[in-house]
Amino acid sequence: MVEPKTCVLGIFLFWNSLTCTNTTKLMRQKIFICFLVLILPTIHLSAQNRSAYLLVPARVFDGQSFHESWVVVVEGDRISAAGPLNQVKVPAYAKRLDFPGATLLPGLIEGHSHLLLHPYDETSWNDQVLAESEAERVTRATVHARKTLEAGFTTVRDLGSEGAAYADVGLKKAIEKGIIPGPRMLVAGPAIVATGSYGPKGFAAHIDVPQGADEADGHDDLIKTVRTQIGKGADVVKVYADYRWGLFGEARPTFLLEELKLIVETAASSGRVVVAHAGTAEGMRRATLAGVATIEHGDAGTPEVFKMMAEKGVALCPTLAAGDAISQYRGWRKGQEPEPERIVQKRKTFQQALDAGVVIAAGGDVGVFTHGDNVRELEMMVNYGMKPLEVLKSVTSVNAKVFGLAELGNIRPGLLADIVVVEGNPSQNISDLRKVKLVMKGGVREL
Ligand SMILES: [Zn+2]
Repeated sequence: MVEPKTCVLGIFLFWNSLTCTNTTKLMRQKIFICFLVLILPTIHLSAQNRSAYLLVPARVFDGQSFHESWVVVVEGDRISAAGPLNQVKVPAYAKRLDFPGATLLPGLIEGHSHLLLHPYDETSWNDQVLAESEAERVTRATVHARKTLEAGFTTVRDLGSEGAAYADVGLKKAIEKGIIPGPRMLVAGPAIVATGSYGPKGFAAHIDVPQGADEADGHDDLIKTVRTQIGKGADVVKVYADYRWGLFGEARPTFLLEELKLIVETAASSGRVVVAHAGTAEGMRRATLAGVATIEHGDAGTPEVFKMMAEKGVALCPTLAAGDAISQYRGWRKGQEPEPERIVQKRKTFQQALDAGVVIAAGGDVGVFTHGDNVRELEMMVNYGMKPLEVLKSVTSVNAKVFGLAELGNIRPGLLADIVVVEGNPSQNISDLRKVKLVMKGGVREL
């Protein structure tokens, strides 16, 4: 580190050298050239490292509760202080940004995304998996990543590439290298399904088409598939504990309990967790008993299953917005027609999960609906009966904890400076989360 005053001293020395005898002058000039060669590059580095911000909103949500008149200080890629202005240390070179009337929050964490998918009313899931080139899918994903970040979501847990192999791993690397803007990513790679259970479906029995996930069954095959996925970059292992698996699209459990346990054990031995797609009560029960970290969807959960999830600390990622979107793609005119049975049921089971004290990890299954519209899930969580403060905790500190992201999800000195500022107060109106004024990721201003 070199202070600017050192630089001034150098200039002084040079000036001084001009007034000396020729020999001394020559020597001093040489010293000064050495000074330039050795020190100047570090002055540039120093300026970069010393980026600092003083963020002055009306209030701060620190991941747990609200604090009126707090400010947040960011130095380099970290939060260095948070509290009342007269109680924090602010570097003299910090850039002050004022956001009157606004709320500062930890960068939001999307619990269930598919950056490699786009809304099914644009192109069906089958056609995205079978007809779109990987180049098109990745190109789209780069746009999705930017929109997600601009919406204030600085981290996503991306749960399945859906036929695009390990393109999610590549996308994550491209973002980390700074090639494209995007959120931090936890990725699942292709996900694991029981043979015959997944899609694309709808073909004659003698036609085999590539699947949207890796099929695997039984002891050796499952162990090998889990290890292969981890080896190729999966941060989490996603498994489908049930799926629409019958002539008329009825959801049924897929893997045996023993198989799910084996998947969890194999992933755990390398420090990874398993997340389970499960909509049926039996699929959820098996996934919970097997020890998965989160259950995705959980539409047909029962009070008994939710109780078991709460006892075992298995979180529910409810994906309310996905059901809402799909119902509308199928013709439901929301606001003009009564809610279809699927939505009525979802409201009921979500309330049962809340009543049972299940940890709720906010995640919408975005990709089924438009990327950048992630707040839709949070609005629906409030609409379906969750308190706004609990929703804000869910999408920040709770998701960080459930996903093992110890340096994210809270505003606290020492944590990574992933920060979003929105107009208004989302604890009073959750939709204020849409009015994004600033997005910072690792201390770098992205918006
Ligand atoms: Zn999904």
